[in-house]
Amino acid sequence: MRLTDRCYAVTGLGYASPWCVNAGFIAGDEITLVVDTGGNTLAAQTIHGYACAARAGNMLRVINTEKHFDHIGGNGYFREKGIDVYGHGGIARTPEEFQAEIAEFNDSIPDLVRRARNESRAFFYRTNLVNPNCRIQHETTFDLGGMKVEILLTPGHTATNLSIWVPDDGVLYAGDCLIREYLPNLDAGSEPDWRLWLKSLDRIEELKPQLVVGGHGPVSRCDEIPAAIDSVRRVLKESIERGSSPTARSCEVRSAGYQSS
Ligand SMILES: [Zn+2]
Repeated sequence: MRLTDRCYAVTGLGYASPWCVNAGFIAGDEITLVVDTGGNTLAAQTIHGYACAARAGNMLRVINTEKHFDHIGGNGYFREKGIDVYGHGGIARTPEEFQAEIAEFNDSIPDLVRRARNESRAFFYRTNLVNPNCRIQHETTFDLGGMKVEILLTPGHTATNLSIWVPDDGVLYAGDCLIREYLPNLDAGSEPDWRLWLKSLDRIEELKPQLVVGGHGPVSRCDEIPAAIDSVRRVLKESIERGSSPTARSCEVRSAGYQSS
C-alpha cells in the first residue's frame, strides 16, 4: 500500500491466529529502508519484492521494530542477500526460543491431521533465526538520500521496541507500540514496562503523525490516530491498576513461555 510518495505499508502478512503482521518500507533517493521482515521467509520474499520494485537500483537496509519472531522471522532472507539488518541492541533471540515458537505455532493448528503432519514446517519454510547484525543503542537518524528518518526508542511492549518517524511525510512506523482493532499485547512485560509504554505513547502523540503503520492491523489515518492512542492508553492504565494484563488468564493456561506478536 502506497501511503505517500516515499512511504509504503505491506499489511496482512500471515501469523498465528488471530494475528496478521505488517511490514513497510521507505524509499529515499539512494536507500530503501525496510521496516520489519514478517514472520517467515515467504513474507520476506514479498516484502523484498515490493521494496525493490518501488525504487529499483536503491540499496536496501532493514530495521526491526522489536524482538518478537513475527517481526524478525524474515531477517535471514535479507541477510543472505548481504543486506544489513538493524535492530535494538537487546535483540538476541536463541535457537531454543525459535524452536519453542515453532512448536507453539504447530500446537495452535486446529486440524489434528495437519498438526500431526507438522505443517508449521510449511509456514517456516527455509526460515532461520537471524538476529540483527547492526545494533541500535541510542536514538539516531538514517539518511536515505534526499530524506532523513528518525529511529526512536519506544519501549513498553518489549524493551526492544523502536519506531521509525518520517517527519517530512508525517508517517510513523510504530511497531506494536501502537496498534488498533487488536487488544495490545501486554504479556511480554509487566507493570514497569507498561508505565514506559505510556511514556512512549506520549512521545508518539507529540509527533502528531498523519499516518501510523502499526505492527498489526489496519493503517491509522488522521482522526483514527488519537483514538488508537487513547484506546491503548486505556488498556495500559486499567492493567496497571489491576496489576495484570487483559489476556493474563489465557497466558497462564498456555504452557509455552515464548510469545509472539
Ligand atoms: Zn507483533
